[in-house]
Amino acid sequence: MVRTRAAISPTGYPHIGTIYQAWFDYAFAKKNKGQFIVRIEDTDKDRTVADAEEKVFAALDWFNLMEDESPRKGGSYAPYRQSERLEIYKKYALELVNKGKAYYCFCSKERLDEMRQKKQKEGKVPMYDKHCRNLAKEEVQERIKKESWVIRLRVPENTQIIMKDELRKEIVFQSNDVDEQVLLKSDGYPTYFLAVVVDDHLMGVTHMVRGEEWLTSSAKIILLYDFLDWKKPLFFHTPIIRNPDKSKFSKRQGHTNVSWYQEQGFLPEVVLNYLSLMGWSHPKGKEIFSREEFIQLFDLKDINVAAPIFDLKKLEWMNGMYIRKSQKSKVKSQIVDFYKKQKVIFDEVLVEKTIPLIQERIKKLSDYLPMCEFFFKPPEKYEIDLSGKKELFKQISKDLEKIKDWTVDNIGNQLVQTAKNSELKNSEFFMLLRVAITGKKISPPLNESMEILGKEECVKRVKELTG
Ligand code: GLU
Ligand code: ZN
Repeated sequence: MVRTRAAISPTGYPHIGTIYQAWFDYAFAKKNKGQFIVRIEDTDKDRTVADAEEKVFAALDWFNLMEDESPRKGGSYAPYRQSERLEIYKKYALELVNKGKAYYCFCSKERLDEMRQKKQKEGKVPMYDKHCRNLAKEEVQERIKKESWVIRLRVPENTQIIMKDELRKEIVFQSNDVDEQVLLKSDGYPTYFLAVVVDDHLMGVTHMVRGEEWLTSSAKIILLYDFLDWKKPLFFHTPIIRNPDKSKFSKRQGHTNVSWYQEQGFLPEVVLNYLSLMGWSHPKGKEIFSREEFIQLFDLKDINVAAPIFDLKKLEWMNGMYIRKSQKSKVKSQIVDFYKKQKVIFDEVLVEKTIPLIQERIKKLSDYLPMCEFFFKPPEKYEIDLSGKKELFKQISKDLEKIKDWTVDNIGNQLVQTAKNSELKNSEFFMLLRVAITGKKISPPLNESMEILGKEECVKRVKELTG
């Protein structure tokens, strides 16, 4: 039985890295007919943001990554929100104390700050100095009644701790370099290390997938599994995604938030397709494939840990390819829905008519309006100054009015004639007319656009420039 989990900290707006992890968790669970769990790791009270959890689920829904168990869905291992499991963590923290694998620490914040500063000055790692490690039992019993305390991990001295990540060679930690981490805080909340081990164990997680940034602290996880005599899940640390310039994929580039992809008009299935390629490749080298295909082929053990590059240009290209291959009616609805969210309401019949003209040209849904606004209203400005061309536009408007049957062919034939008579170079003539109709030097095909706009509207736009 395969059980995977996305362990999500509700500390901000949903991050694309969270979706990346969740997608691999989801796909692997589905492939193996297992379950995909979403757990909310809200143990850092200072960093928890009120509506972040709701936004996380909205993001998972947008990508259609429906979980089998979660706070909102429930499940046999509820609760799935860590802040509701404090008693459970406390129980195991005390069990560790009883086994001699953890101990009470009474150090004040002031003492710890001072100790760390001193270590830093001496050029040492500011680890806990084990001040409370060997207090007598009686003293501890007295002090826990009166003072505030935390529980710390007791790290064995002079040994090696081994992390067997399924994607890497064994990683060997020297225990003397491992901090005696706080497991349970004075407010009764666990830290990540205790909570993640307890929950992954109790929730039956078989494959723990998380980012490579956690690797360096993983000795603590290994110790906890061993101290509690629990079977470890298989560990998979996914590579850190990089920008094309090899810098860390970070907020500064703007595209770490899921909302950014929504606002830009990327299709969720394209973003997932693209994320699939971050550390994984299709056995036949394909770049575009369906979610079903990925789920069938994907295996956690095939993840390549060399830092994958997130190239926005490539994602745009891929988005454009999907739009191209979609049915016209689907593209129409996607565009209409996309703009509805921004409170731009389109005439759907008109949108439908424009699709054949733009389907191969737009990459993101947000490209639609800049390219097509002229279908919905006359240009407000012109990319070329048309003020000296009154005579030309008088002639064009006369000729356009002569066209009886307003079809692409008739429009085209007439314009070729008008261009010839104008004594302008063909390219110049059409450039001026294009700008008159659309406002822009680059637009969808002109004759087709004019057909859609209709005779009356086109004549009106041209006449506008004769006065
Ligand atoms: N709650 C951690 C985070 O959001 C997850 C780490 C893990 O997957 O275990 O970064
Ligand atoms: Zn202490």
